[in-house]
Amino acid sequence: MLSQLNIAPTLAEFFDVPLTAQARPVEQILKFAYSHKPSVVLLMVIDSLDFPFYTEFAADLRAIHELVERDGLLFVCETVNSPTTPAIGSILTGLRPESHGIFTNEDVGKSKIKSVLEILEDAGHKTALVLETGGARPLLGKVSYVFGVDDREDIVEYDELIKRHTISVLKKHDVRLVFSHIRAIDRFAHRGWDLHAAARVTAENMRAIAKAISTRNGLLVICGDHETHFKDKKQRILPATVPLIVCSP
Ligand SMILES: [Zn+2]
Repeated sequence: MLSQLNIAPTLAEFFDVPLTAQARPVEQILKFAYSHKPSVVLLMVIDSLDFPFYTEFAADLRAIHELVERDGLLFVCETVNSPTTPAIGSILTGLRPESHGIFTNEDVGKSKIKSVLEILEDAGHKTALVLETGGARPLLGKVSYVFGVDDREDIVEYDELIKRHTISVLKKHDVRLVFSHIRAIDRFAHRGWDLHAAARVTAENMRAIAKAISTRNGLLVICGDHETHFKDKKQRILPATVPLIVCSP
């Protein structure tokens, strides 16, 4: 089974930049990417989207399932078993949390380990980051385009801003890799709110983002960061699995 650690080395291999990871590039994804020759790659993390959630809420997540059904790849991918910040650290470095040491936003600035975005920048490729302000700030000056969105109570509004920034940065013709992170499902799950509503909002955001990717002939990579964090329900058995989707909408 693939793990989230396979993502960064696969992207590095695709862009032909050096990255030392604890997992191998995925041949099937590389083949798909090479055959589509995308002008830009968007790596989209959907917070708390685990594999059981992806199947249970399939009707609400229609727009995401359609991306797979229309010529996409879907993998069941093992998580690195941690909360959001270290999980994203692993997705972007290909290293386990104990190796990349990124557990808080402060660690992002202090870490000597470079993310695949920074490695691309070093090789002269422009990259972009659309993230919560605290996590984005340490990467100012290291990544060409940084969009921070302040955390807020209205998480639907938060995701709307993430979506808008993601779509607007995809219009920049020199950007090669974009990382973005939406959070409504996670917030709704933590609070015990209606998950159908969260799934529908997320799917509609992804529909708009996929459309923007399509106008750039881009590659869209979607994955969850960890198991769904429910308020009342029993937690999933760990290690959890998340969907990893690769498509060219
Ligand atoms: Zn998370």
